[in-house]
Amino acid sequence: MIIIGGGQSGLAAARAALTARLRPVVLQAGTEPLGSWPDYYDSLTLFSPARYSVLPGMPFDGDPDRYPRRDEVTTYLRRYAQTVDVEIRTRTRVTAVHSRRDGGYLVHTDTGDEIAAAGVVAASGSFGNPYLPTLPGQDDYAGDVRHVAQYRRPEVYAGKRVIVVGAGNSAVQVAYEIAAHARVTLATREPVRFLPQRLGGRDLHHWLRVTGADRLPRRVLTRLVRHAAVLDTGVYRDALASGLLSRRDVFTAFTPDGVIWADGTPEPVDAVIFATGYRPDLAYLKPLGTLDQDAPRQVGGISTTHPGLVYLGLEFQRSFASNTLRGVGRDATHVMTALAAHVSGRPRHGRQRRADAASRTGHDAQR
Ligand SMILES: Cc1cc2nc3c(=O)[nH]c(=O)nc-3n(C[C@H](O)[C@H](O)[C@H](O)COP(=O)(O)OP(=O)(O)OC[C@H]3O[C@@H](n4cnc5c(N)ncnc54)[C@H](O)[C@@H]3O)c2cc1C
Repeated sequence: MIIIGGGQSGLAAARAALTARLRPVVLQAGTEPLGSWPDYYDSLTLFSPARYSVLPGMPFDGDPDRYPRRDEVTTYLRRYAQTVDVEIRTRTRVTAVHSRRDGGYLVHTDTGDEIAAAGVVAASGSFGNPYLPTLPGQDDYAGDVRHVAQYRRPEVYAGKRVIVVGAGNSAVQVAYEIAAHARVTLATREPVRFLPQRLGGRDLHHWLRVTGADRLPRRVLTRLVRHAAVLDTGVYRDALASGLLSRRDVFTAFTPDGVIWADGTPEPVDAVIFATGYRPDLAYLKPLGTLDQDAPRQVGGISTTHPGLVYLGLEFQRSFASNTLRGVGRDATHVMTALAAHVSGRPRHGRQRRADAASRTGHDAQR
């Protein structure tokens, strides 16, 4: 069984696989099984306290009520990977997954391996596939345009005129920290909505847990909560109210030195940062024909087109918490139970497939 991606989702999958008595091999493009966390911006602090931000079986060290920083998460994941007794092959990027005639899969890597596997877990995240819209005039704009995925720290914008596009947590956090160094406008389609980080003296995640809201599927949750909102202790709301940060409707086009706002006013701008989200990073599944544009055909993380193919870490895979440290463990148990049933229910040609795998790679990843 092959797990593609060595981040929190891949590690949670590996642990659940061991519990389900499967023997996974994790293939991780990066140099360590830390997922995309080392590449997130420097000031990133978790939006949930340490006590809620954990994978199954291992708490965070230190005060459970603090909000861990990015580098604490990488330390946590490094430690977590050491507790999961599976083979993790780093510097190994999956380039394609093909179906085999016997119902299994052949996983191709950039190291030249072809690995036969009865099951595949796609846990490769979305950070590698940022969504960047294109607006009229963008190619001729001389300023700096980037996705927030390439943003690291605010100082490089000192003294500049900057627009951050987006109304989510990343957009607001990044706009706020750049505003200490530059003149910043948040460009959004609608007014920014906020959710209080603390309610009744407790972090919001306490209430998400005790009310069960954290486990609700999207169709139920969206009936209760109509709009996405930014978690806020009050600082972001104050920044907008005080004018430290301004907000405007998204501009309609670029000019060579700036943008044209929705009311037709042009303005020179040095840099535009799009915090416009991500799409699942699953190009290696294209040979299977299971992607609808970038989105996999799946329900609850289980492929609806390919038995033995499951996903982890998709946005709203089973609940609001699916793509978070606190939620991925639950989903891992769910998809691995299905995968274990599939693998054990399949007709066995184990010896032949093992020989196939060994001849191609020297490794056996049949289960
Ligand atoms: C800016 C930001 C802030 C966030 N803040 C929080 C937060 O506060 N709390 C929280 O719980 N969640 C947060 N999240 C959401 C989520 O927890 C993280 O995105 C997390 O990194 C997702 O883990 P993952 O393992 O699914 O994906 P990733 O961390 O992206 O890991 C996927 C891994 O797969 C590898 N990979 C990709 N393609 C291949 C391939 N073809 N072959 C082999 N390997 C491959 C990548 O190199 C990567 O290491 C945040 C996300 C972002 C972007």
